[in-house]
Amino acid sequence: MNLDNLTIDNARTAISQGKMTATSLAAAFYARIESDDKQVGAYLTLSKERALAKAAEMDTIASRGDPLPPLGGVPVGIKDVMVTRGVRTTAGSKILEQYVPPYDCTAVARMEAAGAVILGKMNCDEFAMGSSTENSAFHPVRNPRDLKRVPGGSSGGSAAAVAAGTAVVTLGSDTGGSIRQPASFCGVVGLMPTYGRVSRYGLIAFASSLDHIGPLTKTVKDAAIVLRVIAGRDPMDSTSADVPVPDYVAELEKPVKGLRVGVAREYFGEGLDAEVRSAVEAAIQQLASLGCEVVPVSLPHTEYAIPTYYVVATAEASANLARFDGVRYGHRSKRATNLSEMYRLSRDEGFGPEVKRRIMLGTYALSAGYYDAYYLKAQRVRSLLAQDFDEAFKKVDAIVTPTSPTAAFRLGEKVNDPLAMYLADIYTVTADLAGVPGISIPCGETQEKLPIGLQILGRHFDEATILRLAHAHERARL
Ligand code: GLN
Repeated sequence: MNLDNLTIDNARTAISQGKMTATSLAAAFYARIESDDKQVGAYLTLSKERALAKAAEMDTIASRGDPLPPLGGVPVGIKDVMVTRGVRTTAGSKILEQYVPPYDCTAVARMEAAGAVILGKMNCDEFAMGSSTENSAFHPVRNPRDLKRVPGGSSGGSAAAVAAGTAVVTLGSDTGGSIRQPASFCGVVGLMPTYGRVSRYGLIAFASSLDHIGPLTKTVKDAAIVLRVIAGRDPMDSTSADVPVPDYVAELEKPVKGLRVGVAREYFGEGLDAEVRSAVEAAIQQLASLGCEVVPVSLPHTEYAIPTYYVVATAEASANLARFDGVRYGHRSKRATNLSEMYRLSRDEGFGPEVKRRIMLGTYALSAGYYDAYYLKAQRVRSLLAQDFDEAFKKVDAIVTPTSPTAAFRLGEKVNDPLAMYLADIYTVTADLAGVPGISIPCGETQEKLPIGLQILGRHFDEATILRLAHAHERARL
């Protein structure tokens, strides 16, 4: 059994045809994690009991000859910012090191209801703040394609496990690029759905108006299968949208001929690595040769996206992280002698430096006297960025860009320079701010054999079109 190339369909089919059991498949993955994950560091916690119970349930269905559900027996990993009942959930932070949630995140519950076998929880930057997974309070993740390099972040563990073959698919979260950028660095597929497409219930909040859950997979088809499972209205999240969920897999096969693909010059300027540029330009040529019409578009406010993101995201983070006070969740300082000291010391001991930096920035941006100058201004620019996309999508069906200005950088290269780290998301934050969906797919390699990612952005709730384009590109490339 070759775990490296295993997709949802070939795992599920092999189990339903009795060629292997879900239990033996889970055991094979755990053996692989045991031997290979020491180097990579993608997992924080294994959930063997829960996984084996689900696998046994799938084996019973298969042995009766009944059809398996869409993810029947498929081994998956969950980014450790999604709560899992009875399974430790840390958000990559010391403050939640011992936290065992009493309920499941909706996306996790839907994966499991569809038959997924949850192997464990994936390492990530603390509270999903970062672009390299070096901000994990536990240990960094290494890129399986080159162990001296980062896997991207913050869903670095989720991307690395798919690339290393220690999970078939994983869930990640994207607030400013954290699904697409690590997918690009590790050479896998990463899909950020439209804001509201997937419930955020049970996702530990970083910036509520920007947070999205989505899949990391080996193939575009697998991303389509997982999105169908996790998407749709959830009464537990008032921002989840009541919009019909199409059959994404059926939509994949529709021809791409005649689709209008936008190329925004703002995404090909200064700072873009030459090898990334030529791989992305070749991918655009290839879409043209498949019959797509390539149309120049402009997203004129793009240059303001990073500062806007870091005002909005830190402001919301400072409010969301106020709940970690040593009273209700997680770590409580043993040194405190009174109540306010207990709050202060618990937070001081529990949060890492990047999280503290963001709480300070966000608190400042929201404080009386500065609110209008920073937060309100940022919200106004955010509307302009969203309008840029509305205008562009009047002319085109999708927009293609590089996912990241460079391929994976080295561990330690940017960790002491937060501003350089923030620029790793220059092409991804715009979609989060506008709430439009985006996918990153592999489109080439550098001379050093590092993967390069192509990003395809779409209209609100039109994941079907970006998946279709991504699938066409993937098929033409292989
Ligand atoms: N790298 C960005 C940040 O540090 C995005 C993180 C994310 O999408 N969760 O905020």
